[in-house]
Amino acid sequence: MPSKPSFDALVIGGSYAGLSGAMQIARSGRPVCILDSGQPRNRFAAHSHGFFGQDGQAPRQMIAQARADLARYPNVTFLDTRATIASREDDSFSVTTARGETLHAQKLLLAYGVVDILPDVSGLEERWGITALHCPYCHGYEVKGEQLGVLNVGPLSTHQVLLISDWGPVTFFLNGQPPPDDVILAKLTERGVKIETGLVTTLEGDSPALSGVRLEDGRLIPLAALFLGSRIRFASDIAGQLGCATEEGMQGPLLAVDMFKQTTVPGVYAAGDITLRMSNASMAAADGVFAGACLHQSLIFGPLEALGKDVSEKVASD
Ligand SMILES: Cc1cc2nc3c(=O)[nH]c(=O)nc-3n(C[C@H](O)[C@H](O)[C@H](O)COP(=O)(O)OP(=O)(O)OC[C@H]3O[C@@H](n4cnc5c(N)ncnc54)[C@H](O)[C@@H]3O)c2cc1C
Repeated sequence: MPSKPSFDALVIGGSYAGLSGAMQIARSGRPVCILDSGQPRNRFAAHSHGFFGQDGQAPRQMIAQARADLARYPNVTFLDTRATIASREDDSFSVTTARGETLHAQKLLLAYGVVDILPDVSGLEERWGITALHCPYCHGYEVKGEQLGVLNVGPLSTHQVLLISDWGPVTFFLNGQPPPDDVILAKLTERGVKIETGLVTTLEGDSPALSGVRLEDGRLIPLAALFLGSRIRFASDIAGQLGCATEEGMQGPLLAVDMFKQTTVPGVYAAGDITLRMSNASMAAADGVFAGACLHQSLIFGPLEALGKDVSEKVASD
């Protein structure tokens, strides 16, 4: 019987977090395999902003460069497919892909990202990442000084509208939801935010450009960009299959991890948007670097919480 492919580490998700983590493992010389289905969260945007040394680069170009860097290491394997099933097998893990391969690894690094759940507003989906935006730090500069809007999608939206008023004149679309309390209303007034209470029916303009937001009462409010802090869900249920615990983040569930990026299942590490409260490619990459280094060290030292305890006891006794 042919032996099953076996790796020290299997990385599920090959984008900012996964490739950054895999690089640390690759550079230790350990065999590492990256599974990726090629759907990074920011694929809708033509340009990615704010990344160290690569401001304005196309998202897929950044990822292609990181893959090319990793491909130079002979101990790295890429599989362009989706991980569908994962389970623990004694002290290791078994992962099945959408192509039917079964792989084995001592440790897993989950870096499969999240999916944005967009509200059901006509014309929104086709403008996502272009004129319907999630984050002013990523895409606000390009519309600075223009007429901006924030769509109310939950508690985060009042925070977002107060923030975005730094980028330009802003209208808060309550979209039929109750108005904020008096304290927040006073802050909104202080920041010059206009409020529209009615339901938003359509985003209009020569898509993906935006000319304005049509309200249920028929009025068109002219806008250059509409921001919204969408709800998110995990891009895969692999962590659920393995029994990893979750916690509630500001926009949806996150994987619970310890200070060494290990999930509640020993040997399963996680990085990137699935563990972070702020979604940002730089932060996902940095998170992946740390998770990859921790995963590698756990191959030598075993569970790192013991190391953490030693370190904190030492710090306490110094
Ligand atoms: C529209 C938009 C624009 C953005 N613009 C910016 C910006 O300008 N600057 C910035 O810093 N941040 C930006 N972000 C945030 C940024 O996209 C994320 O923070 C970043 O992509 C997170 O990286 P990640 O590696 O955690 O996940 P992702 O980049 O989402 O990558 C996850 C990878 O895992 C793969 N995958 C999923 N499930 C599986 C599976 N079961 N098996 C194998 N592979 C799987 C996916 O296909 C994908 O390739 C933007 C986000 C959005 C929504």
